[in-house]
Amino acid sequence: MSTTQPAIVLVRGDITDQDTDVIVNAANSSLLGGGGVDGAIHRRGGPAILEDCRKLRAGHYGRGLPTGQAVATTAGELAARWVVHTVGPVHSREEDRSALLTSCYRESLRVADELGARSVAFPAISTGIYGWPIADGARIAVETVRATRTAVEEVRFVLFDAAAYAAFQTALA
Ligand code: ADP
Repeated sequence: MSTTQPAIVLVRGDITDQDTDVIVNAANSSLLGGGGVDGAIHRRGGPAILEDCRKLRAGHYGRGLPTGQAVATTAGELAARWVVHTVGPVHSREEDRSALLTSCYRESLRVADELGARSVAFPAISTGIYGWPIADGARIAVETVRATRTAVEEVRFVLFDAAAYAAFQTALA
């Protein structure tokens, strides 16, 4: 695997509009759908994604996908080729779970490499329903991508709102 540093691109928008090889889903461990990014991906991607997720649950992931891990499915009707599902940690003020959030980005890139993907779109994992503060979530995302060896050439962070976009700009600078 030849690895160079991927270009990091920030986009303000909806992750389901992206034409990258991989779209990363901020999933929950059930893999059977949820709100936020997860809901949007299943709505736009159609039933083929859920069908693949059910097969994963019937096989290797009978107890669900553990937090910090990543697994690929079809992207169904999305423009991307694959969806890589990863489960972010729920933010806690008592316990430092940042290693798990780091793992989400690193494992998603590892799966993308296995697939031969050249471009990957990430949402700001854990910063929605799971409550991770956006500035810290952005810092971890950018630092992890910069520290990970990968053949992926473009990592695109797709930020839904102005505050998330600004936080990633700060983290990149
Ligand atoms: P989590 O459960 O990991 O917190 P969410 O899907 O609730 O995941 O939110 C993750 C981030 O993605 C939040 O910053 C949220 O604002 C953002 N988001 C929600 N929907 C979309 C979308 N369609 N495209 C890109 N980002 C989105």
